[in-house]
Amino acid sequence: MKYDYLIVGSGLFGSICAYELKKKGFKILVIEKRDHLAGNIYTEDSNGINVHKYGAHIFHTNNKKVWDYINNFAEFNRFTNSPIANYKGKLYNLPFNMNTFYQLWGVKTPKEAQAKIEEQKKLYHIENPKNLEEQAISLIGKDIYEILIKGYTEKQWGRKATDLPPFIINRLPVRFTFDNNYFNDKYQGIPIGGYTQVIEKMLDSVEIRLNTNFFDDRQTYLNIANKIIYTGPIDQFYDYKYGTLEYRSLHFENETINEPNFQGNAVVNYTEFDIPYTRIIEHKHFDYVDTKHTIITKEYPKDWKIGDEAYYPINDDKNAKLYEKYKKIADNEKQIYFGGRLAEYKYYDMHHVIEKALNFTNKLA
Ligand SMILES: Cc1cc2nc3c(=O)[nH]c(=O)nc-3n(C[C@H](O)[C@H](O)[C@H](O)COP(=O)(O)OP(=O)(O)OC[C@H]3O[C@@H](n4cnc5c(N)ncnc54)[C@H](O)[C@@H]3O)c2cc1C
Repeated sequence: MKYDYLIVGSGLFGSICAYELKKKGFKILVIEKRDHLAGNIYTEDSNGINVHKYGAHIFHTNNKKVWDYINNFAEFNRFTNSPIANYKGKLYNLPFNMNTFYQLWGVKTPKEAQAKIEEQKKLYHIENPKNLEEQAISLIGKDIYEILIKGYTEKQWGRKATDLPPFIINRLPVRFTFDNNYFNDKYQGIPIGGYTQVIEKMLDSVEIRLNTNFFDDRQTYLNIANKIIYTGPIDQFYDYKYGTLEYRSLHFENETINEPNFQGNAVVNYTEFDIPYTRIIEHKHFDYVDTKHTIITKEYPKDWKIGDEAYYPINDDKNAKLYEKYKKIADNEKQIYFGGRLAEYKYYDMHHVIEKALNFTNKLA
C-alpha cells in the first residue's frame, strides 16, 4: 500500500480530512474527478470578481470552534446576507421582518404587524394542513404565501405547492424588528479572496490528482491505500444496486455586464412563477470589489438525472428508506469511510461539514 489514506473528492469534507490526517503524519492521496479543487465551494477569479461557480456560498455559524478553525485559512469580510425579493417588479426585504410587513401592508409597529398576521391566518381555518400551500397559509397567511413563497417554492421543487408535502415548511421564521440579516448566527462572512484559496491552503502539501475519477479505475484505487475516505454519491459507490437517490439540480447562466452595479445587492430572489429563474446573484457584492464591470448569475432549478450535478437531496420517505439501505452496507465496510453531503445524502451547510470532518478525523488513530 502506497498511501495510508486515499481521499475521493477535494470538497470541504475531503480537504479537511486531508489536512487533519496529514498533520497526524499520514501519507495521503486526494483524487478529484473535476478539473479543479474545492468541490461546490469553488470560486473562480474573473477579472477581479470571485464567481461562486456552484451557487452563492455565504459562511455562517454559531459554533465558535468552527469559526476559529476556518479563520485559520482565510480572513473573512463582514458580508451579511440580506436578500431582496422581487415580485412582479415590487421589492420586499427578506427574511420576513418589519421592513417586509411595512412594504406589504403599511404597518409601522410590531403590534400592528402581529395583528395583521393573525388576521390573515384566521381567514382560513386550516387545522391539519394536507400540503405545502395549506401549511404555509396556516403559518403566515395568504399575502406572504402568495407574494413571497408560492412561486419561488414551485419553481424550486418543480411541482405545484398543493402537490408538495407540508413538512417542507416546518416553520416560517418572522421577525418583529427592522432587521434584514437573513441568518441568526453569531458569525458570518465571505473569505477575502474567495473559497478556493481556503481549500488550496488545506491541501498545500498533499498529493492531489485532478481529472481523476475513482470509478475509472476502482480496483487500483482500492489497492492503493490502507483506508479510503469517499465523499462522492453513496448510491454510485454501490452501482445503484438498490436504486437511485434523487436530487434537484440547478442550471446557472452567467453574464458579464459592462456596468459597475447591476442590482445593488448580492442576492435578489424572483418569487413569481412566470420568471423561470429563482434568483439573480451579483457576485461582486459578496466581496465589495470596485470594478467597472459586473458578473451576474441566474439560477434555474431543474430536474436531476444521473450525470447532472446533484444539488439538493429530496428528503422524502422513499429516498430516506433507500439511503438507509445503502448506509447499512456502508457501515459494515472495513476499509472505506463515507462522509460529506453526497456520501451521507444530506444537505449540509459548510459549518456542518467542518464540524463533521473534525469530529471524524479526531477519531482516526
Ligand atoms: C446551491 C447551493 C448553495 C449553497 N450555499 C451555501 C451557503 O450559502 N452556506 C453554506 O454554509 N453552505 C452552502 N451550501 C452547502 C455547501 O455547498 C456544502 O456544505 C459543501 O460544499 C459540502 O462539501 P462536501 O465536501 O461534502 O461536498 P462537495 O463540495 O460536493 O465535494 C465532493 C467532491 O467529490 C468529488 N467527487 C465525487 N465523486 C467523485 C469520484 N467518483 N471521483 C473523484 N472525485 C469525486 C466531486 O467532484 C466534489 O469535488 C450550498 C449548497 C448548494 C447546493
